[in-house]
Amino acid sequence: MSLRIGIFGGAGRMGKMLVREVLDDEETTLAGACLKEGEEVGRTLAEIVERPANDELKAALLTISPEKMMNALDVAIDFTRPEVSVHNAYVAAATGKPIVIGTTGFSQDQLNMLSEAGNHIPIVLAPNMSVGVNMLQALTQMVAQALEPKWDIEVLEMHHRHKIDAPSGTALALGEAAAEGRKVQMKAKGVYDRKGAQGPRKRGDIGFAVLRGGDVVGEHTVMFAGDGERIELSHRATDRRVFAQGALVAAKWIAHQQPGRYGMKDVLGF
Ligand code: NAD
Repeated sequence: MSLRIGIFGGAGRMGKMLVREVLDDEETTLAGACLKEGEEVGRTLAEIVERPANDELKAALLTISPEKMMNALDVAIDFTRPEVSVHNAYVAAATGKPIVIGTTGFSQDQLNMLSEAGNHIPIVLAPNMSVGVNMLQALTQMVAQALEPKWDIEVLEMHHRHKIDAPSGTALALGEAAAEGRKVQMKAKGVYDRKGAQGPRKRGDIGFAVLRGGDVVGEHTVMFAGDGERIELSHRATDRRVFAQGALVAAKWIAHQQPGRYGMKDVLGF
């Protein structure tokens, strides 16, 4: 039987793309889309995602009620905002439905709440669903583990002008991968702001730099700067579809998992 997928944040940049991916995938059926109250009022889902109104789109639910959406689906995919995703994860837990969350910018408290929901249902939480970025994360951990701490680690990222959180969830995950490789805590080593006379760089710091502008989909570089040489590991996303496709792979995978909080590493088997 076809897997019924519902999209939370269905009118957003990622949400619309996900609706189209689900429609185009032969193994999935679009259960519907959940929008924010007051968004796209009076428009059909077909109009919102700019597709002809076929039977699947006509049958799909369009709602502002997370509960109604959750009851109509087998797996939820959520690309919204942190507080909304946490709420949706609790609704998913109450209805026993697995959820894939692509939203970024969670506080530690919110992450703890998602882990709590993960005691009841399977949750995939991944700040970046692309295969390439997850490989970059694995490589970063490997290189950080192999190199001595005298190699300075800096994470540089650039995104489009609309992005609201910084550094990106992916940049933070890359910093975490480097910290894990070095067996240190990001809490102690992460440096996020540099302005004015800060003094020299501290050995072992993991620094972050953020650029915003234009329509850049997402670029990340992890630098290992040594004396007289530098290694740069880079990833450039040129099409948002890679995130939507990764989310769909995660949705198919999570449909068969036990409760728990998972990442793309688990989904991709890295
Ligand atoms: P967006 O602003 O275009 O879309 C977010 C949507 O969520 C909006 O349509 C908004 O109205 C909707 N929303 C807000 N409150 C809601 C509610 N209560 N119920 C339903 N919908 C609600 O943003 P975007 O570019 O689509 O990104 C969304 C999130 O996904 C961001 O956190 C972004 O950083 C993240 N993102 C993750 C990946 C990944 O691979 N994990 C890739 C791209 C973006």
